[in-house]
Amino acid sequence: MAERDVRAELKTAIDQQIAKMRAAGGLESMNYFYDRAKNMYDSDSESPLVGVFCNLVPEELIMAAGGKPVRICGGFHGSIGVSERVLPQVFCPLIKSSVGFFMSDMLSELKMIVVPTTCDGKKKAAEFLAEKKKTVIMEVPHTIESPQARELWLVEIKKLKKNIEKELGAKISRKKLRGAIEKTNRKRKLLLELYNLRKNNAPILGSDALLVAHTSFNDDLDSWMSHTESLLAELKTMEPRSDDRPRIMLTGSPILLPTWKIPLLIEEAQGNIIMDDLCSGAKTLLSTIEVRAWTMYDMLIGLADHYLMSACPCFVPNDPRVKKILNYVDEYRIDGVVYHNLQGCQLYGGEVWRVEKELKDKKIPMLKLETSYGEGDVKQLKIRVDAFMEMLESNK
Ligand code: SF4
Ligand code: SF4
Repeated sequence: MAERDVRAELKTAIDQQIAKMRAAGGLESMNYFYDRAKNMYDSDSESPLVGVFCNLVPEELIMAAGGKPVRICGGFHGSIGVSERVLPQVFCPLIKSSVGFFMSDMLSELKMIVVPTTCDGKKKAAEFLAEKKKTVIMEVPHTIESPQARELWLVEIKKLKKNIEKELGAKISRKKLRGAIEKTNRKRKLLLELYNLRKNNAPILGSDALLVAHTSFNDDLDSWMSHTESLLAELKTMEPRSDDRPRIMLTGSPILLPTWKIPLLIEEAQGNIIMDDLCSGAKTLLSTIEVRAWTMYDMLIGLADHYLMSACPCFVPNDPRVKKILNYVDEYRIDGVVYHNLQGCQLYGGEVWRVEKELKDKKIPMLKLETSYGEGDVKQLKIRVDAFMEMLESNK
């Protein structure tokens, strides 16, 4: 398939999803985010672009070197077929979609790529991408608990800093790194404010709030922050809605445009998505990066600690993720959890039993949905989502 076809197909697919969301939404300030989503794979930045997989890469280092981080985790069914020329059929669709983007030359403007070794899919993708582009691999420890793991991760962060400086030809100064951390912390606080408003029934759809988080990964940060402030201001002028729909938390594999079927099915079935712990959503964005003193060393420690605590299922044991989910269930008064598992994702799939068991102890029902990026299973998913929402309704 020619490059232009995949980019054009992706744009059309995103346009279709956004049109549905625009029709269901209705908030004036959301228009900016709908428009950004439609253009999220256009490179209109003058700064060198650094492609990033995952929530574990400290984007502040890229920003401090004058670069712009862009998330390259793919959510497009149309690029999967392209990558199946080199990757097996039974493989995570996120990886296949991203590799498909590269094989279609869609991301040729990237200066470099950073890939953490969180799962086998990412490791193998990194090898393939390294043939085409400067690719830095970050070795992720298996645990977050031991002192050795923390030391290894700090070494990886320092190595990444050097690699970024070399590739972008810019020194990361103490002042610039501080500026970048303070900036992303402002972003995190804005998102937390949005989620706090949702907690108290602010009149914004959960799928819209997810989109706001999703667009923050590729947008110009100043512009994103100023429009998020406008959105918060608009919401604060509105009355919270009295809403007795089941309050839902989404967890599991990332949900990436244009594959938005899960949030839309939940909302069509009258579920109220209040919270998520998705890597494409709130996962690392709701807490700020804590820095003891603004020395280079302490800033790197602050970054290392923050990104290692991302509660990714690649860690063992993974108590922080389970704990986080249970805390959110209480704090956001959740009635039911929807667990999204991308086919081929062994990490999320392998933790289902544990999350389900802990939720059962709290008497919180959970629905596991295993799916990929195609539309072929939508009818079947709809039946299960409808039944789950009905059950939550009848539990009230
Ligand atoms: S769950 Fe882990 S591997 Fe998957 S996107 Fe998040 S940080 Fe990356
Ligand atoms: S969804 Fe699972 S398999 Fe896919 S990239 Fe993320 S952690 Fe890896």
